[in-house]
Amino acid sequence: MLLLAGPAQADELSLARKVKLLIDAYPETLLGSEDGSILFRDGEPALAIDDGKAKDHAQKLASGDIEDSLSQIYPPGPCETRPEVNFDPGRIRSEVLMKRLYGGSAREVEASLVKVDWFGSKLPVTKRQGVAQALEKVRDALKTVPDLKIFLTPSAGTFNWRKVAGASNLSVHSFGAAIDLNTRYADYWVWAGGKPGRVQQRDSQYPMTIVDAFERNGFIWGGRWYHYDTMHFEYRPELLAIAKAAGASACR
Ligand SMILES: [Zn+2]
Repeated sequence: MLLLAGPAQADELSLARKVKLLIDAYPETLLGSEDGSILFRDGEPALAIDDGKAKDHAQKLASGDIEDSLSQIYPPGPCETRPEVNFDPGRIRSEVLMKRLYGGSAREVEASLVKVDWFGSKLPVTKRQGVAQALEKVRDALKTVPDLKIFLTPSAGTFNWRKVAGASNLSVHSFGAAIDLNTRYADYWVWAGGKPGRVQQRDSQYPMTIVDAFERNGFIWGGRWYHYDTMHFEYRPELLAIAKAAGASACR
């Protein structure tokens, strides 16, 4: 059954609570928060949580701050969702924060890449923030179901320092913290002729067992976005922790 997923479905959480869950999700790098800023273990300058600018959805996607990145509650679970217009939980990111978490240049990110065995191929994935280990857990959960392999491999890519297609911000692939599955089963709003804010709905071709295994290990799915990208998964454990605290679910 397809359900409407939107912010109204979940309990409201304060920004302070969300920020605490964000900090807890990246203990390798984040130390805490103080006076409206995130503090870093390596002594890098504190980063403002809210830049104070009013933004529409397109502006949040292009230049989101930490507050913007936590504004939409992601609904996890082994059920499809039918997002409202511009409900793109996780697609809004703070690029400055991502660079602090994974590296500020291709060279810096590359220094932390390791090879993850993915159904016979070796994929470059960052070891920072526990991403490579989390992807290995996803693989181990999914390899017990042989019928799923055709969807999972060949992977259409992991690390790739590049901008989001048609946008000025960096893709999460730039940080080695995302994976695309077999493109044969993929649906992407741009390929479907969609325009920002005006996209045809679709049903995913990937079994929800796959989505569930990723979500249980800290990855969100691009198939939950109004501007969908169904082969795409990225490591965003803070959004799954916030979903749990808010009682958000795709299955109701
Ligand atoms: Zn992708």
